Amino acid sequence: MEQERMLQILFSLENASVIETVVIPNARGRTTVCVSSQVGCAMNCQFCFTGRMGLRKHLSTAEIVEQAVFARKLFSDEFGSITNVVFMGMGEPLHNVDNVIKASAIMVDEQGLQFSPRKVTVSTSGLVPQIKRFLHESKCDLAVSLNATTDEVRNWIMPINRKYNLNLLLGTLREELRLRRKSIVLFEYVMLAEVNDSMDDAKRLTELVHGISCKINLISFNPHSGSQFKPTPDEKIIEFRNILIQSGLTVMVRLSRGDDQMAACGQLGEPGDYQLPLLRVPDKFQVAL
Ligand code: SF4
Repeated sequence: MEQERMLQILFSLENASVIETVVIPNARGRTTVCVSSQVGCAMNCQFCFTGRMGLRKHLSTAEIVEQAVFARKLFSDEFGSITNVVFMGMGEPLHNVDNVIKASAIMVDEQGLQFSPRKVTVSTSGLVPQIKRFLHESKCDLAVSLNATTDEVRNWIMPINRKYNLNLLLGTLREELRLRRKSIVLFEYVMLAEVNDSMDDAKRLTELVHGISCKINLISFNPHSGSQFKPTPDEKIIEFRNILIQSGLTVMVRLSRGDDQMAACGQLGEPGDYQLPLLRVPDKFQVAL
């Protein structure tokens, strides 16, 4: 697969913190800007570089919108216009839900940036009350980082699951999306070797999302410094994908891009001297790391 370059923009804020925005052109003429919603992140997902920073600041509505405005100005000549916005940069967007709902509204407003609501996607690690609020108040699309098919694994790699477990998260989505008929959710699934990539995981995943209008995005893990996880080999990702497809799911596969310049999902930011602690690895996964 041809590797396309991703472009990073660094913004310096008044308090001297730095946020990162990434512009991702693709071969089909789509150019996506990936915006940050916080400096750092409180969620401490174990596979995420940004998560090691802890939360340093919620971005204001203006600081979020400005990233898309600036990317549009800077890159429109080189790549054609920016076609999509994803809230998948630094931070858990729904932890900063007031500003993210306002910023996404400005992005789709006729007096604002005029993106179609289907071209603006807000991602979350699974904050259930905020998901409900977002689905009620925003016209934009939702993506959920799932990344595991059992509470045992998700409690470890995404500690937010200890508060809002898989059953609650998926039950809420099933119910809320049924009410909003036309909406579908994008499930993101970062493939971690020997942790969440077995064929049993693939089968469980098909059962978990049953009855939810969705697409699934399988993402190759980008190893970063200090990371304890390894990427699933590409052939195994394809095998995993085939099981999902056989059960009728719509699946996309994103093999790694941008890992050469620390600008891929879960790789933004600079943890610095202070880092959140890594959690204890469950015994049965010790050998996988
Ligand atoms: S994956 Fe997202 S929610 Fe989890 S720590 Fe990283 S930035 Fe935060």
